[in-house]
Amino acid sequence: MIDVKKLEKAYGSHCVLKGIDEHIEKGEKVVIIGPSGSGKSTFLRCLNLLEQPTGGTITFEGVDITDPKNDINKMRQKMGMVFQQFNLFPHLTVKENIKLAPVKLGLMSQEEADKRALELLARVGLPDKANAYPKQLSGGQQQRIAIARALAMNPDVMLFDEPTSALDPEMVGEVLNLMKELADEGMTMVVVTHEMGFARSVATRVLFMDGGVIAEQNDPETFFQNPQHPRLKEFLSQVL
Ligand code: ADP
Ligand code: MG
Repeated sequence: MIDVKKLEKAYGSHCVLKGIDEHIEKGEKVVIIGPSGSGKSTFLRCLNLLEQPTGGTITFEGVDITDPKNDINKMRQKMGMVFQQFNLFPHLTVKENIKLAPVKLGLMSQEEADKRALELLARVGLPDKANAYPKQLSGGQQQRIAIARALAMNPDVMLFDEPTSALDPEMVGEVLNLMKELADEGMTMVVVTHEMGFARSVATRVLFMDGGVIAEQNDPETFFQNPQHPRLKEFLSQVL
């Protein structure tokens, strides 16, 4: 589904991604861990070209999205993104937030989008919040709405950048449970997180990023039981 070759990203002379090769199959749940500043967010943001790579290629569903002659907006619609800070539009109701993209892009009529929004609200366990505003919701609820909003586009892959890091501890579980359900339904997912329990139980593969490269990757069992790279051993000893 996603094929990354020699991906590089530099800000001026600061090289943040230093040649990443990665291949993500349909249905995989890839969890990315690593120290702050190692390039995890930049990698995720490059996957849907929220950041423009400075080298290498990204092929998504057979289309080279780094080739400017391909329509990135069309491809981006198939990649849902969920951010640490939810990024809901504060002046729009929950339902309007969910409907916005599909209606604006002409993919659904108002009626279709209404119906879909209500289905998704039921799906994320918030059927009675359609007319609420984001600030009336808890952080966990806002993040579940952000996930519903991403799902409204019927994406083929969901990218999550530390979706529970901004939440109070008691709200982490509800968001992780929803993500687990999506995983069980077969969604392809790339998740940056510090939730090691989630990585162990949901990931098909865990990647360790360090200093702009993928320093190690493995199935979760081997990754956590038998880490090889000294930096990974050190990192795990700090977080586990
Ligand atoms: P992580 O998500 O692993 O914490 P990031 O991908 O956010 O790491 O950042 C990696 C490095 O890139 C950091 O050194 C950060 O300061 C730098 N960086 C990220 N975004 C920008 C930007 N827009 N301009 C300049 N430097 C950036
Ligand atoms: Mg980050």
